[in-house]
Amino acid sequence: MTDHGTAIEWTHRPGTKGETWNPTLGCSIASHGCIRCYAAKSAWRKNFNPKTPQYHGLTRRVNGHPVWTGELRLAPEATLLKPLGWREPRTVFVNSMSDLFHENVPDEWIDRVFAIMALCPQHTFIVLTKRAQRMYQYFDETVKQFRSQIQNYISMARGLAPDCERPFNVDFLHLPNVWLGVSAEDQERAEERIPLLLATPAAVRFISAEPLLGPIDLARITRVGDGIKYDALRGLRSFVIGADGDGRAMYDAPEKLARLDWVIVGGESGKDARPMHPAWARSLRDQCAADGVPFFFKQWGEWAPHRIEPGGDLGGDIRAGRVKIVHPTGQSDVEVAIATSGRGTIPGSCYMACIGKRAAGNSLDGEHHLAWPVQP
Ligand code: SF4
Repeated sequence: MTDHGTAIEWTHRPGTKGETWNPTLGCSIASHGCIRCYAAKSAWRKNFNPKTPQYHGLTRRVNGHPVWTGELRLAPEATLLKPLGWREPRTVFVNSMSDLFHENVPDEWIDRVFAIMALCPQHTFIVLTKRAQRMYQYFDETVKQFRSQIQNYISMARGLAPDCERPFNVDFLHLPNVWLGVSAEDQERAEERIPLLLATPAAVRFISAEPLLGPIDLARITRVGDGIKYDALRGLRSFVIGADGDGRAMYDAPEKLARLDWVIVGGESGKDARPMHPAWARSLRDQCAADGVPFFFKQWGEWAPHRIEPGGDLGGDIRAGRVKIVHPTGQSDVEVAIATSGRGTIPGSCYMACIGKRAAGNSLDGEHHLAWPVQP
């Protein structure tokens, strides 16, 4: 069994060692998926440890929860160069404690990170961001400058690793060992970020739907005002051409473009985690199966589907906060109560029990889903 350098399951790719690499440290909230940021909790645990001064002052506590202060630190050069010293193949989560495309990371620093990744074809680097717009712009601007800048860029990369004899892959825009992904916690964030990801050059594109906080239909990624619909798993794009008699949008024949190559799903863990409705996870599993896209079910998180036992005290468990009703739309109890004029429930609502991440596990309907895309 490989001795992995991180517990993050989707880095445990067969034949490689799972690893994290943090060329930057620190972050700030990008959307409601960040509210219980796992990385901020982890940084807070190191906040007062004299052995980890690089984390001091990056987080503070608000209402009992660790949050980022907003400061972002660039790693020392030794950290930046670390992957060059790893001999065996690793699957590396880039910036598990930050976001590479955070607005405070200079373009030149991102260049350096990509230089290192280009010089390490033996490793696979997984870059996950919530800043899809910045990632798209970074590549778009690089594309424009690419031809004239390439020699400077190669020199810079070689300058970082003067002893490196490895061939340098000049197709910087499609490095086969760099997988680019965006987080998508619900349909709104999927629609905001996936079109930008599909327009970004990458060898492998993926989404991480963790924490999954609402349903996502990847075949209907539409953006208000754009008049475009994406079928993200099949790689199709259609433009609106009008509306039918009922006011529904009509689209022209779809055209092919890039598609998603991988989908990761997980529920939230830790204190005050929000539950994931099983239907949301099942739906993404089934969408991936229908289009032959690898699906990775990472975890239920803190909450798992609740089995109602004879003689149990469901009302008491709900009042005590051990069991929650979760609505299939992702709406809160208050929103549902308003929408249903006080009836307070809608078809498909389910009970979820707070049993802890370890007990909840990662089995979905009795099966483990641990699939990765094939490295191009
Ligand atoms: S983008 Fe990631 S690291 Fe940054 S606050 Fe959100 S969840 Fe945390």
